[in-house]
Amino acid sequence: MHYHIRWSDSTLDWKPFRTHEEAEEAATRLARPGETFTVERVSDKTCVRCLELCERVLAKKKTRDAEMSSQSGNSSRSGEELPKPGTADSSG
Ligand SMILES: [Zn+2]
Repeated sequence: MHYHIRWSDSTLDWKPFRTHEEAEEAATRLARPGETFTVERVSDKTCVRCLELCERVLAKKKTRDAEMSSQSGNSSRSGEELPKPGTADSSG
């Protein structure tokens, strides 16, 4: 659960707040004269704003991961020779 500010005539500053107080405090500071707002409580799972944000962040991260994995070489080896358990053929 988190909170967003909904401005009366714009969609600016849709960043999430953890508490109602935080959201209201920020909104009060940012509000221009005559501008009104409401603080909305939303679920983490259904919040469209956060999901959009999340997707963008993930997309960025993906490209970074791809770059990193292409740098590291292919280090899978097959047919590695194991030392045989010792039956030393010593007659004598
Ligand atoms: Zn949200």
